[in-house]
Amino acid sequence: MSLKIYNTLTRQKEPFVPIKEQEVLMYSCGPTVYNYIHIGNARTFVMADIIRRYLEYSGYKVKFVMNITDIDDKIINEAKDKDLDFSDVTQLYTEGFFEDIAKLGMRMPDAVPRVTEHLDEIINLVQTLILKGYAYESEGSVYYDVGKFAGYGKLSGKNIDDLMSGARVEVNEKKKSPLDFVLWKAVKPGEPSWESLWGNGRPGWHIECSAMCMNHLADQIDIHCGGSDLVFPHHENEIAQSEAATGKLFSKYWIHCGFLNIDNEKMSKSLGNFWLARDVLKKFRPEAVRIFFLQKHYASPLSYSEDNLRDAENAHKRLEMIFNKVQQALDLKETLGGSVGTVAINPDVEQFSKDLDRLEKEFHEAMDDDFNTAAAMGKIFEIFNGLSKITSPKLLNDFSLYVLKRTRDLILEWNEFLGFLNLSKPENVSKKYEKIVDLLLDIRMDLRKRKEWTLSDKIRDGLNEIGIAIEDSPDGTKWKLK
Ligand code: AMP
Ligand code: ZN
Repeated sequence: MSLKIYNTLTRQKEPFVPIKEQEVLMYSCGPTVYNYIHIGNARTFVMADIIRRYLEYSGYKVKFVMNITDIDDKIINEAKDKDLDFSDVTQLYTEGFFEDIAKLGMRMPDAVPRVTEHLDEIINLVQTLILKGYAYESEGSVYYDVGKFAGYGKLSGKNIDDLMSGARVEVNEKKKSPLDFVLWKAVKPGEPSWESLWGNGRPGWHIECSAMCMNHLADQIDIHCGGSDLVFPHHENEIAQSEAATGKLFSKYWIHCGFLNIDNEKMSKSLGNFWLARDVLKKFRPEAVRIFFLQKHYASPLSYSEDNLRDAENAHKRLEMIFNKVQQALDLKETLGGSVGTVAINPDVEQFSKDLDRLEKEFHEAMDDDFNTAAAMGKIFEIFNGLSKITSPKLLNDFSLYVLKRTRDLILEWNEFLGFLNLSKPENVSKKYEKIVDLLLDIRMDLRKRKEWTLSDKIRDGLNEIGIAIEDSPDGTKWKLK
C-alpha cells in the first residue's frame, strides 16, 4: 500500500503524489509568541513533526517550514500589560517555543521565518494583489476583496452568499464588504509599525503565511498543515491571497489536526482552560506525552486529563522496561561474542517471529493510511507483548537473538519518527558489564592478597563458566572473552 492522506481541500483520502517526484515541500502555521505554547498547540506541532519524519522515513526529501507570528494584537496587548517592548515579549516566548519543541522531541524545521523579518516580501505580495485587482487601499489600510476571488470558500466548504447573510453588519466604513479581510493595517498610536507604500502600518495575520511560505518554499507546495481551527478563515484566506497572486494551486494537500479538548471544549488561551506544555512536561516524560498524542488519529479530537497522561506514562514505562531487556540480551551476546548456545528453538519465539512479519506489514499499512498512529501504536503494543515473553535468558540461542535483533532494529527505526522511547542513554549496557567484570577482578585481587584462595578461585571459575577467561601476570590480571 502506498501513502494516502485525507485532504481537507477535496474532503477525501487521496493517494499522496507530490508535485516533484520524491520531494515534499511542507508548511505548518506556527505559534503566536505572546505566551508559552499550551499542550493543545503542542499536539498540532508534534503531529506535523511526525508527518514530516514519516515522509522522510518513506524516502521523500522533505523541506519543512514553520513560521513564527511575532507581531499581532495579542503580543501588543501582552507588552502593554507587562510594560515591555513588544520585541522583549516575542523574544522570550520564541526562545520558550524552541525549548518546548526540543523537550517534546521535535526536530527543528528547516526554516522558522518570523514576520518581522519578512516585511518586504509581505508588502510586495500586498502590492501584487492590489495591482491584480484583488485588493484595495482604504485610509492607509489594505483589504482583500473577497468577492473577486472565484474560489473563495473551496477549503472550508462555505459559500459567499451564506457568509454574507451570516455576517454581522460591521461598522467599518473602510471595507467594501464585511467579508473583506485586512492585508495591511494602518498604524495606531503607540503600536509598532513599518513603512509601506500605504503609510506606516503592520501586516494582517493571513498575509504573513502566504508570503513566508512562498518565500521559503515555492508558489506551489505539497502539504500545508495546522490545527482545524485554522481552516476558516486563516487557511481559506491564505488560498485566496496566494492563488490570486500566482494563478496557481497553492497547496496540493491540506492536513488539519483535531483539537485537544478539556471537558469537550477546545483547550485555548482565550477560554483559560489550558495547560502549558512546559508544565505538563514537568510531570510527565516527553515520550509519555507523545504516546498520549499517538494513541488517537491526528484528525480526531483528543481528551486531555491527567489520568489519560498517567496511562500513557505507564504504557511508556512498560515499553521501556521490555526494550531494555531486549537490549540487555543483545548486549550480553555482544559481550560474550560467538554463539550463545544450542537451546532448542522455543515455540513462543517461533510464533513471535511469524507474528512480527504480520505486525510489521500492518504497522506500515496503518501509517500509510493517513498516518493512523492509533492503529500503528496498537501494533507496537502487540509486538512488545510478544517480546515480553521471549527475553528470558533461558531462551537465548542464536535464533532468538536473531529475532530480538531484528525486532530491536525495527523499533529503533519506528522510534525515529514516533519517539515513544528515550534512547539517549549515556552508557550502553555492555559498558556496564565490563565495569562489573573489572569490579569482580578487583575484589579477587584483594582476596588473593589476603590469601583467601577459595573465594578468589570462586570468582575466577564463575567468570570462566560464563565465557570470560582470566590471565594473571606480574602486571596484573587481564580478562578476555573465550
Ligand atoms: P496559535 O498560537 O493560537 O496560532 O496556535 C498554534 C497552533 O496550535 C495552530 O495550528 C492552532 O490551530 C493549534 N491549536 C490551538 N489550539 C489547539 C488545540 N486545543 N488542540 C490542537 N491544536 C490547537
Ligand atoms: Zn498560517
